[in-house]
Amino acid sequence: MDPKNYKQQLLNQLYEPYKKCLECPLGSLGRTTVVFGEGNPDARLMFVGEGPGKEEDEQGRPFIGRSGQLLNRTIESIGIKRQDIFITNVVKCRPPGNRKPLPIESQTCKNLLLLNQIKIIRPKVICTLGSAAIQGLLEKEIKITRIRGIRMNMGSIIILPTYHPAYVLRNPKMQQIFTQDIQTALEYTSFE
Ligand code: URA
Repeated sequence: MDPKNYKQQLLNQLYEPYKKCLECPLGSLGRTTVVFGEGNPDARLMFVGEGPGKEEDEQGRPFIGRSGQLLNRTIESIGIKRQDIFITNVVKCRPPGNRKPLPIESQTCKNLLLLNQIKIIRPKVICTLGSAAIQGLLEKEIKITRIRGIRMNMGSIIILPTYHPAYVLRNPKMQQIFTQDIQTALEYTSFE
């Protein structure tokens, strides 16, 4: 079986027992869907956001609202197609009122789903979007303004934090930096 089909099968198996997950408080705080993530299961570049918003919760797909549209425009501007990347969030359930996920929610979801998604996909580069994404992944309180654009390593995977697209929507002057960060992340995917 080719790696793409094999990895997709593993991702489906991972998702299956968590489709109605109640492992953390978010499971019983009004979410509609466990938004697992989507894209190329054999992607070299993976994006990790904070958590689903309203549209994502309703439709079961990550980054499809206004933030997602900005992300789509940005990746397309540097020649990346959405079907080439894998995109997900630290928490798979929408926090009520779009509040930040609590540490217990991020840690639980990361350990059950995100880390296993990373193990299956084995991307070269993970580009995290916004402070909650990098904080959730590293379990550290770090200011996004201090670490954006700074390359880190998680084993053999390169981590590159950048802004959340919602922040770029509110601060259009940041679009150039945001595009540049994603371009850098793309370039890192061809490092050996
Ligand atoms: N914001 C996120 O962090 N993730 C989504 O999927 C949508 C908006």
